[in-house]
Amino acid sequence: MRNPIRPLPDLLISQIAAGEVVERPASVLKELLENALDAGSTALRIDLEEGGVALIRVTDDGGGIPKDELPLALTRHATSKIANLLDLERVATLGFRGEALASVAAVSRLTLTSRERSAPHAWKLTDAAGEAEPAALLAGTVVEMRDLYYNTPARRKFLKAAATEAAHCLEAVKRVALSHADVAFTVTRDGREILRLARGEPKQRIADLLGAAFLTESVEVDADAGALRVTGLALRPTAVDGTKEVQYCFVNGRYVRDKLLQHALREAYRDILHGSRQPSWCVFLDIDPAAVDVNVHPAKTEVRFRDSRAVHQFVFHALRQALATPIAQAAVQAAA
Ligand code: ADP
Ligand code: MG
Repeated sequence: MRNPIRPLPDLLISQIAAGEVVERPASVLKELLENALDAGSTALRIDLEEGGVALIRVTDDGGGIPKDELPLALTRHATSKIANLLDLERVATLGFRGEALASVAAVSRLTLTSRERSAPHAWKLTDAAGEAEPAALLAGTVVEMRDLYYNTPARRKFLKAAATEAAHCLEAVKRVALSHADVAFTVTRDGREILRLARGEPKQRIADLLGAAFLTESVEVDADAGALRVTGLALRPTAVDGTKEVQYCFVNGRYVRDKLLQHALREAYRDILHGSRQPSWCVFLDIDPAAVDVNVHPAKTEVRFRDSRAVHQFVFHALRQALATPIAQAAVQAAA
C-alpha cells in the first residue's frame, strides 16, 4: 500500500540535508571555520567540549552579520556569497551553498551572536523563526553549537569517544590553519588551551603544524604558469625521517582530497623515493576559480578541473623539478 506523495516538513528537510554536511563534530567545525574566514577574520578562537559533541564555539573578528539578516543566516539556501550562476562558476569564497548553518541548526542547539563593526551593539539569535535579542560583543561573530544530534538519536549513536571526535576537530583546524597562515588560531578543549598559532608566514605555519623537521627535510615547490600556480613543501626523497605519510593538498585555499592531484604528486616521487619513506607534501594550488568546479559534493572536499590534464602535468612537473633541485639531488647522491 503506497502513501500519498506529500512535501516534507522544513525541519526534516534540513535534517536530511544535515546528513551530507554534518557527519560529525569536526564537520560542523569545518563549516564554522570556513564561515569565519569568508567573513575576513584575522583571529579565531575555537572552544570544544566533550570532543565537540557538547559544545563547539567559534569566535571570530570578521565583518559580522546585520541584525535583519540573522534569521536568513539560519535559513536553508540563503547566502551572501553568490547571487547567480555566474557567481557560482567563479566562486572564490569557501562557502556558497547557504545550507551549513541551517543544517547544523537542525541537528543541534545553535546560537548566533554577531555585531557589524558599525552597529551599536551585537544581536543574538537562537531560532530562525525567533526574534533577535540585544547582546554584548565587541565585533565579529560567535557561533555556538551545543548538544549535537540531541534530536536525532539514531545519528548520535555513530559518534565516537570524545577523544576521537576531538582529534578529528583538531585535524579540521589544522587543515584550515595550514592554508591561512595570516590568521591566528586558539583552540581550547574542555577549558584547557591545546593549540595556539600566531599569525605568520606559510612556511612557519607548516612548521608549527607539521613539525620543524618537515620544514628542514623538505624542498620548496614553487611554479608559476600565470593561470596556475603551485607552492608549498615536499619531503626530500632521502629525508631522514619520512616513514609517515603527510599529505595536504589545497586548491585556492580549500583543503581537498583530489585523486588527480594525489596521482600527479605521487608520480613525481616515482623511482626516487628511498627505502620505506613515504611521499609527503603540503602544497597549495592556485587556479582561476572559473577553471575549477568546487560544487561537486556538499562537503566541498572534492573538485573537478576544467582542464584536468593540464593541471596534472603542471603539478607533476612542478614537483619533479623541485625534487631535482641541487639540494635534493645532493642528498640523493649522498644517500646512494
Ligand atoms: P554559506 O557559507 O554557504 O553562505 P552558511 O549557512 O554557512 O552558508 O552561512 C549563511 C550565511 O551566514 C553566510 O552566507 C554569511 O553571510 C553568514 N555568516 C555565517 N557565518 C558567519 C560569520 N562567522 N561571520 C559573518 N557572516 C557569517
Ligand atoms: Mg558556510
